[in-house]
Amino acid sequence: MSSIPDRLRPTPRRLTAVLVPVLTAALTATVVSVIDRSPEPAAMALPPVTGTVAGVTGPTEIRSVAYAQAVNAAKAKKPKVTVIGTGGTISGVATSRSSFTEYRSGQIAIGDLVARLQPEIGQVADVSTVQFGNKGSGGYTIAEFHALTLAVESALKKSDAVVVTSGTDTMEEFAYWLDLTVRSRKPVVMTGAMRPWAAVTPDGPQVIGADGPANLYNSIVLAASQATYCYGTVLMLGDEFHAARDVTKTSSYRMDTFQSREFGVLGWIDGPNIKVGRAPARVEKCDAKQRWLTPFDLSRVAPTDLPRVEVVYGYQQAGGEAITAFADAGVKGIVTAGTGAGGISSAQSSARSAAAAKGVIFVSTTRTGSGASYSGSTTSPIIAGDDLLPQKARLLLLLSLAFAPADVDQVRTWVGTLGNPEWDTAPKGRPKD
Ligand code: ASP
Repeated sequence: MSSIPDRLRPTPRRLTAVLVPVLTAALTATVVSVIDRSPEPAAMALPPVTGTVAGVTGPTEIRSVAYAQAVNAAKAKKPKVTVIGTGGTISGVATSRSSFTEYRSGQIAIGDLVARLQPEIGQVADVSTVQFGNKGSGGYTIAEFHALTLAVESALKKSDAVVVTSGTDTMEEFAYWLDLTVRSRKPVVMTGAMRPWAAVTPDGPQVIGADGPANLYNSIVLAASQATYCYGTVLMLGDEFHAARDVTKTSSYRMDTFQSREFGVLGWIDGPNIKVGRAPARVEKCDAKQRWLTPFDLSRVAPTDLPRVEVVYGYQQAGGEAITAFADAGVKGIVTAGTGAGGISSAQSSARSAAAAKGVIFVSTTRTGSGASYSGSTTSPIIAGDDLLPQKARLLLLLSLAFAPADVDQVRTWVGTLGNPEWDTAPKGRPKD
């Protein structure tokens, strides 16, 4: 037996917390040379900034000039943050102050929640609110997701950053959808709560240990700081923020339910200190505007143009009927959440071949919750989902099919590149191996 005390033993989470910043610093030191450091037009009015920006710590190598200028601008002038409310537990009312699990969600208006953070939050940012909806996260349709993207884009025209509140059940899908469709580089932060905010009535006393107030407060602090400028959408709960692509809800009740498994958190909010431990690979494209933009400009497609894409789960001796039924119902794409590295049963495999012959496009992922599936095909429309979680691959396939309905090669390229961005570690000017 080792003599290391229990509290110091390297559990996976502790290892992640220690290794991620170290590995990221090493990686980003390598990529520094490939980042385009030219200032972008929107930020030209500000003097160039180099080095660490006080108050936000992290690997300076990944900060473009645009990033540093955005952070500095937020310090020079009080930022404008719009909070868009969609409901969930954070706006829930419990039956008593100690009822953590018995409550009705979506009961309190987002304007009232922000008002309860005054006057403190007013010192951080000028906050305005938009009530997009007030219901459970699972109740939103893809057409409503489409409208949410337009609402976020519209708010970002007037604000420096947006916070979106939602239920936690499908918050990772809200976050990844926004990550794939919002074209502004300004920060978008998703948040919510695992415990309801108020007891008995919407303006009743606060639930014991409610996490909503601190989560909403810290999300606004994070958004206002611009620390995630060019990071796409991030998800913030429990003082940690995660990349939309990587994060997943891992527990039905625990307060630290959100984890990014093999990737680790992006950073932490410790009181007034925002620590940035790593950056999503898309930061690399930040300074060249066109490279940053995702191809999924939702102002160009109607909600009715978004096709149905479903997920089919793999397990011992799974039948193929679900695949066949989805294909017969006109579903355009199916994500398989297979076993291990993406395996599906022989019945599912036969059904998949028949559906693929009729034009249904498949993405192969794993039900394991982490790790990759490389089991695609170059001869039939079966695309490897790599390490995208099935519910995330489904959104990417849906958007890809909406924008390139009959182009399997384009869909394959988007799933492989947008879905699985990797740092370009080749030194600038030298060919990759
Ligand atoms: N059922 C809720 C929802 O996702 C859970 C939550 O808000 O955390 O809307």
